[in-house]
Amino acid sequence: MIKTDVLIIGAGPTGLFCAHQLGIIGLTCEIVDNLDKAGGQCIELYPDKPIYDIPAIPECTGEELTNNLINQIKAFNIPIHLSERVDEVKKENDNWIVKTNAGKTFITPNVIIAGGVGSFEPRKFAPKECEKFENQSILYSIKDKKIFEGKTVCIFGGGDSALDWAVELSKNSKVNLIHRRDDFRGAQSTVDKAHELAKSGTINLYTKYQLANVNGENKLESIDIKHDDGEIKSINTDFALGFFGLIMQLGPIANWGLNIDKKTIEVDTEKFETNQKGIYAVGDICNYPGKLKLILSGFHEGALAARACFKLARPDEKYRFEFTTSSKTIKNRLGVKE
Ligand SMILES: Cc1cc2nc3c(=O)[nH]c(=O)nc-3n(C[C@H](O)[C@H](O)[C@H](O)COP(=O)(O)OP(=O)(O)OC[C@H]3O[C@@H](n4cnc5c(N)ncnc54)[C@H](O)[C@@H]3O)c2cc1C
Repeated sequence: MIKTDVLIIGAGPTGLFCAHQLGIIGLTCEIVDNLDKAGGQCIELYPDKPIYDIPAIPECTGEELTNNLINQIKAFNIPIHLSERVDEVKKENDNWIVKTNAGKTFITPNVIIAGGVGSFEPRKFAPKECEKFENQSILYSIKDKKIFEGKTVCIFGGGDSALDWAVELSKNSKVNLIHRRDDFRGAQSTVDKAHELAKSGTINLYTKYQLANVNGENKLESIDIKHDDGEIKSINTDFALGFFGLIMQLGPIANWGLNIDKKTIEVDTEKFETNQKGIYAVGDICNYPGKLKLILSGFHEGALAARACFKLARPDEKYRFEFTTSSKTIKNRLGVKE
């Protein structure tokens, strides 16, 4: 069980900056995010797009903003638990017990939900039986490409991820690339490369096919794919990989007894606390009169929620407001040498 002053759900811009605000006031925190990288919408939806309304930064991309936010909290050594979804938040005496789908448990007096529009989840294969092999031989992301060496892999999808992985894995695996349309959506150079590899027989290309069935007892043995005209083909395979993009789901947050209206959580504007003591909501996921779904609003909300956490984390101490420019304590925490 991991003990912390604050548990932040969501490593989007709001969660990251909120962690900074906790760090400078001397509170510990841990961040959990369902994605495999920090940055939320900025990194997942528009890493290369320029943002023009971050105060004092005339222009930066989603990725640059994320990298700067991560750099800004480096000094605090905050653990970020990626590829984990917070599934359960339960009260136990004065603490919240928070559980992730990867089996981690946190104990904390404060939970800050910076969950944006919900957790990003992979769009999955339609056949229900796929669940049986999920995370073993049916995967929606790749953590270690070595597991595919010398194996047969069926890759589904028509975008950059499917194409990039088809090209990459074809170096050491037998690759079948399967797409429900004739045309691919990826970068032209990768589309051309995939066609070239198909022409030379390095990969097998199946277009206008979708997954119809998966077969196997304890492990995946073969899959059936169905053509638009109804023809079914069976392929022996070790793995099936689906790259169909992500969907955003409020998911488990809906079950924690919070005041939820239109997929957002109602908060007060003093502490950004929800209807549950010690649970705060900030960023896109929170709602109050006049709420603007902008990154700069999330920064402000996170700063206030962080201060509100102090009371429950340090009940015997009084929070003292200090400027970063003049506080020795804050500079020490940031590792600034004078
Ligand atoms: C195309 C586009 C352009 C934009 N341009 C601008 C702009 O120019 N300026 C601007 O200010 N804003 C812009 N925005 C909006 C801005 O991106 C959002 O306001 C901002 O990302 C909200 O930050 P957040 O941290 O609150 O949420 P998010 O960025 O959505 O991050 C939330 C994170 O929480 C995680 N999460 C949710 N539930 C769970 C759970 N149960 N367990 C674990 N993790 C969970 C998610 O995986 C996600 O990573 C734009 C948005 C889009 C889509």
